[in-house]
Amino acid sequence: MSNDKNNTHPNAVIEIAGAGPAGLTAAITLAQAGRQVVVHETHEEVGHRFGGDFQGLENWSTREDVLATLTALGLATDFTALPCRNGAAFDSTGKQYQINTDEPLFYLVERGPAPDTLDSALLRQAQSLGVEVRFNSRLCEMRGDGILAVGPRAADAIAVGYHFETDMANGFWAICDNDLAPQGYAYLLVMNGKGTVKSCMFSGFKQEKLYVRRTLEAFQRLVGFEMKNPKPHGGSGNFHIPRSAYSGPRPLVGEQAGFQDTLWGFGMRLAISSGVLAAQSLLNGENYDTLWQRQLKPQMDTSIVNRALYSLVSNRGYSWCLRRVTSKPDLRESLRRQYQPSLSKRLLAPWARRRYESLRKDTSCDHIDCHCIWCRGGCCDDD
Ligand SMILES: Cc1cc2nc3c(=O)[nH]c(=O)nc-3n(C[C@H](O)[C@H](O)[C@H](O)COP(=O)(O)OP(=O)(O)OC[C@H]3O[C@@H](n4cnc5c(N)ncnc54)[C@H](O)[C@@H]3O)c2cc1C
Repeated sequence: MSNDKNNTHPNAVIEIAGAGPAGLTAAITLAQAGRQVVVHETHEEVGHRFGGDFQGLENWSTREDVLATLTALGLATDFTALPCRNGAAFDSTGKQYQINTDEPLFYLVERGPAPDTLDSALLRQAQSLGVEVRFNSRLCEMRGDGILAVGPRAADAIAVGYHFETDMANGFWAICDNDLAPQGYAYLLVMNGKGTVKSCMFSGFKQEKLYVRRTLEAFQRLVGFEMKNPKPHGGSGNFHIPRSAYSGPRPLVGEQAGFQDTLWGFGMRLAISSGVLAAQSLLNGENYDTLWQRQLKPQMDTSIVNRALYSLVSNRGYSWCLRRVTSKPDLRESLRRQYQPSLSKRLLAPWARRRYESLRKDTSCDHIDCHCIWCRGGCCDDD
């Protein structure tokens, strides 16, 4: 389908607001097709809001390996990506569940401006294709053709903790315990002498300090966790399926559109996919809404049902889920199925959407004299 929104003149400069994974992949795809692109980035570097954060590039939602998918999309993969196959999860009693997969469950990547990060690899590729990236350039108004990729506009979940140095061996560990990470999970990721430890919570934001302290204590007790030179870090995620991902004539991509994995917050793949789709819509005159609704929405609809179900689970329920999931002969395939649409998920969708909408406003935070990440992000204005 084609409409006025999608007709860009081949010689017109395309502006992109935001040099995150969504904006940079859109820029790369457009530049590969010979288009002139200018990316505006409000900070002096890429990945500023993450500054050394370790994140998982999930490798379970498709059978194809995610790095092969990126290569097929024409994207560089010359960033450090540690394949993660063997790790451990714990329930609230401290019982350990071994996670073992033949293929990587995810790749551990670094975010931020360092040379080996995902962000720097995308920036290098974009610049090598002739994309002009203007740093310290906050775009407040766009006049011509463009794509909006400025990241989360609201906070539906927060992840708070530390970046640190450590002598621990590489690995990943998670804890499902509502006393550490309400309706979420606590995680510890270590790669090459550095690490990230966080409580990823979907509620209880006002008490983030308490949950972070409990997370540190639990990892110390369970895996002998130790950190040197800890630096506090936190951020938020925006999960929302819009009716239309256009702002006027311009596509919204990544978390600015609300595209996220609503279950656990693994949003990088959706950011990258939506960036590519938005670029293709401008190149081919296709309607962007049609493209993302066909290719991304079914998985996002499913993840809202998964989230609504997960938010009902008690600590006992987590133990049951962990026992069940980790006993599967192929954990990666089992997760892949959970991320695919099914008849039962379709039937539960209306209930899940109602339930999830009500959770977007964290009722555990009264927003008074509060400095939690949610309130610091200015999200109280939504109330
Ligand atoms: C703590 C934390 C841990 C996470 N862990 C994972 C994980 O393990 N796995 C995973 O897949 N995902 C994870 N995510 C989610 C993932 O980081 C995001 O989904 C992804 O970065 C979204 O990409 P984006 O390009 O849409 O936005 P961003 O990466 O936020 O990039 C947007 C860019 O736009 C810039 N900008 C903002 N306003 C303007 C403006 N007006 N003009 C110009 N530029 C502007 C910003 O400075 C920023 O650089 C995590 C998120 C957080 C906060």
